[in-house]
Amino acid sequence: MLVVDAHTHVFPPHVQERREEYLRRDATFAEMYASPKARLATAEELLASMGEAEVDVSVVLGFAWAEHELCREHNDYLLEAAARSGGRLVPFCTVQPRAGDDARREIERCARGGARGLGELRPESQGYPLDGGEAAELLAEAARRHGLALLFHVSEPVGHTYAGKGGLSLESFYRFVSSHRDLNVVGAHWGGGLPFYALMPEVKEALAKRPDLSGQVYVDTAATPFLYGPAVYGQVAGLVGAEGILFGSDYPLISQRCQRESIEQAFRLDDAARRLVLGENACRLLGMTHDP
Ligand SMILES: [Zn+2]
Repeated sequence: MLVVDAHTHVFPPHVQERREEYLRRDATFAEMYASPKARLATAEELLASMGEAEVDVSVVLGFAWAEHELCREHNDYLLEAAARSGGRLVPFCTVQPRAGDDARREIERCARGGARGLGELRPESQGYPLDGGEAAELLAEAARRHGLALLFHVSEPVGHTYAGKGGLSLESFYRFVSSHRDLNVVGAHWGGGLPFYALMPEVKEALAKRPDLSGQVYVDTAATPFLYGPAVYGQVAGLVGAEGILFGSDYPLISQRCQRESIEQAFRLDDAARRLVLGENACRLLGMTHDP
């Protein structure tokens, strides 16, 4: 079985070297990375972590830069790093959908270059609504055309605040997934808690995979120790099924080894669920085979 970490972040070395410049240029980057404790990792560091944590494949996510040009620079790095990785890194790119045709062309370039998705997207940080409007439809159309998944940071509507919590309201995320049932969509950080509302029949129906459509809604486990107690694994699996949960660490914020071990511990009595969450779901999402 392939072990796939579906949520990691790497940045080009020049962002690390000229961090101050990027902090000035992008308000969301400044919110999340102004603290010198907020680590930026390169692809090489991630590959070393994967070796240590016994992770076979990682999805490397872009950052939701407000400027089109910064998205493009970051995408270049993700595509190049993935191309050099022998299949160990799978790129998800980002765009500023308000850039219109420039964004469309960039998505096409990324898809041709090996991107399997777009993310981590933060519509509200990038200045567009996800529940309706041109930018949201641009993303949906491009995902359909190029067979890409869409991964969104989703904000918990309650609970403690943290740097980078904002980005997409739970309500907008729900409206988008329930009106775009043919797309593969990932709600990061347990989808902001959306699976808990699967106790409402219409939400359960919106989160269930329809047999006649290729799309599915997934949630990932990124940053779990900062957000929820360990009961979240079993509770969400009970509400929406283990088929909808992806192992994601949010590396380098959380160690890949720790996140993998938490999942193994949580599903130690259910081997089928453990395999789905650690890799089989991600393989289905990314169109990869389960065996190395
Ligand atoms: Zn996030």
